[in-house]
Parts: sequence; C-alpha cells; structure tokens
Amino acid sequence: MSKILIIAEHLNGKLNASTAKCVTAAKAIGGSIEILVLAADPTGVAAEAAKLDAVSKVVTVADPAFAVATAAAYAPTVIAAAAAYTHVLGPSTTFGKDLMPRVAALLGEAQVSDIMTVRDAYTFERPIYAGNAIITVKADPARKVVGTVRTASFAAAGASGSANVETATLPVSVPKHTRFVELKAGAQDRPDLQTAGRVVSGGRALGSGEAFDIIYKLADKLGAAVGASRAAVDAGYVPSDLQVGQTGKIIAPEMYVAIGISGAIQHLTGIKDAGTIIAINKDGEAPIFEIADFGLVGDLFKIVPELTEAL
Ligand code: FAD
Repeated sequence: MSKILIIAEHLNGKLNASTAKCVTAAKAIGGSIEILVLAADPTGVAAEAAKLDAVSKVVTVADPAFAVATAAAYAPTVIAAAAAYTHVLGPSTTFGKDLMPRVAALLGEAQVSDIMTVRDAYTFERPIYAGNAIITVKADPARKVVGTVRTASFAAAGASGSANVETATLPVSVPKHTRFVELKAGAQDRPDLQTAGRVVSGGRALGSGEAFDIIYKLADKLGAAVGASRAAVDAGYVPSDLQVGQTGKIIAPEMYVAIGISGAIQHLTGIKDAGTIIAINKDGEAPIFEIADFGLVGDLFKIVPELTEAL
C-alpha cells in the first residue's frame, strides 16, 4: 500500500491551498496520507493541515531556519523524513518547483513533474510542449516517487478531518550556508492570482501601465485578481508576478476574462483548466475566441469602462 508524504506549503502562519490540492492528488494515488510541516512555529499550520480530509497524520519539525521556506534549509529534513514513504509530493508552485527537484536529486530519484492526472499509484499524466500534448509517465514501483502536483488540475480536499499532530526530531543538521535575506512582493490588497476564483487579465493592447487602470477597476468590481500576458509584462505595464501562461502562473479560476490578449498557445496553457473564459478583443479572428465561452468583439477602451459602469 502506498504511504504518501506531502510537504506543506505555508506563508505567514497560514497553510496554502496548494497543500489541500496535493491531498486530492494523493487520494487518487490511494494509501495513507501524511503531511510534513516545517516551520519556525508549526502549530497553526499543523492545525489547519490536520483538518484536511483523508490525512492520517501531520508531522511537524520546528527550527528557526524554517521561518521562511528555502529549499536549501528544507531539503535535508524532507529527505530524512521521506525514508518511510513510497511517495513524496509537493505542489507545482514556486515553492514546490524550488524544493522538490532538490529533494529528488538528493534522493537520486527522477521527479515526476506537474502531475495533472493520477491513473494509478505509479502512472501519471502531465503536460508537455506547453500543454499541447499530454504524456503518460510510468514510475518504477520499486523506487520512491517524488512528484509535483499541478494545483490547477485538482480541487482542494475538504477540511472536516481531525488527524493527529506529532512533533518529530530528525537527526539532521539544518544547513546554515543559505540565509533568507528579503522577500520582495507586490502589495497584496487584491485576491491572489494563483488561487482566485475570478481573474481579469490584460494584454499588450493596453499600451501602458496607466491604461491598466481600467483592468484593475473591472477586477475590483468583480472581486477578481489581476493577470497579464507576457507581452504586457515584458513591456513593463505590470510586474512579472502577474504573468499568466507557460512561463508565468498556471491558474484555474472559475471565470477568466482576457482583455486585449490574442490567445497565443503559451498564454492559453496557463488557463487550460479555467472554467468560463470571456474574451474582449477588437479582432474577431483572434485565436482567443476559439477557446472563449463568451466573446466581445470591439475596442477594449470602450467596452471595459462600460462593463465596469454597468456592474
Ligand atoms: P498580442 O499577441 O500582441 O495581442 C494583442 C491583442 O490585442 C491582439 O489580439 C489585438 O487584436 C488586441 N487588441 C489590440 N488593440 C485592441 C483594442 N483597442 N481593443 C481590444 N483588443 C485589442 N505569453 C504569455 O502570455 N504567457 C506566457 O507565459 C508566455 N510564455 C512564453 C514562453 C515562450 C518560450 C515564448 C516563445 C513565448 C511566450 N509567451 C507567453 C508569449 C506569447 O507567445 C505571446 O507573444 C503573448 O502571449 C502575446 O501577448 P498579447 O496577447 O498580450 O499580445
């Protein structure tokens, strides 16, 4: 039977929803599911993790070096904890993409990245070629599976569980050669792009950072997060953490509004799992309309303020 360990992602004492999505992927694998929380003070995060459905145990390791999640500090402890498990999973977020390859490499295993479907405990589907094709990957059942879970492909597990929380002391010295210096993040007065139920994105057509104001206004009316195409990011209209797509964020909101975005494949791969897609573009032949559920053909500078006003 599989024994699955999920590495909890958390920030400022709160468990990230990505962990609950890993639990859903783990349920599809089948077997026992445990969560490892590494933190300076794991109490609050562990209590949240213990509530996730199907989790049998939460293991915590406290160390001041875990105050901020750095892969260098986390990895040796994860490896020591991983010994007793058949699968070690993390989310395919910035956190997991940083940590899990290091864990896999130190364990001498090949990582299964970006799991979007679990066929069985050792068979997974994942996207390749910017989401243009899906590959089925078979892991060796005789070896440990180290994997990252594409959070956009799994719903979050419910929170009606009550797992035991155990404090572990592992015979590992936490490396001190990597130190956290500073986190630079944009002001978080809007919903988080990666977890928001609604997202409004703007593209190159906006033409300037100032013009993006109409995107922010519509997003605020909808209670939505703001995203952008790479062209808009490269042109400096918005910061890079708003980029949606292959080299940006992979998201799965219930509603995605693409404004002045042509619909290049590298952008579409980021919204493959979105629910309702609405496109506003002056070119009726733009590829975005091929995947949009609703389309408005016209000038965004006229339509978007009207829409915001009407809302
Ligand atoms: P454009 O393609 O220039 O489209 C602008 C659209 O706005 C057009 O359809 C136009 O008709 C419309 N428009 C213009 N004026 C108006 C108006 N007044 N009203 C309404 N509509 C208007 N792109 C991403 O987005 N995310 C990624 O992660 C990403 N990764 C990439 C990775 C690689 C390796 C490569 C090669 C490319 C990547 N790209 C990515 C870039 C991608 O190929 C496109 O260049 C980019 O998505 C285009 O952005 P856009 O749609 O904003 O701009």
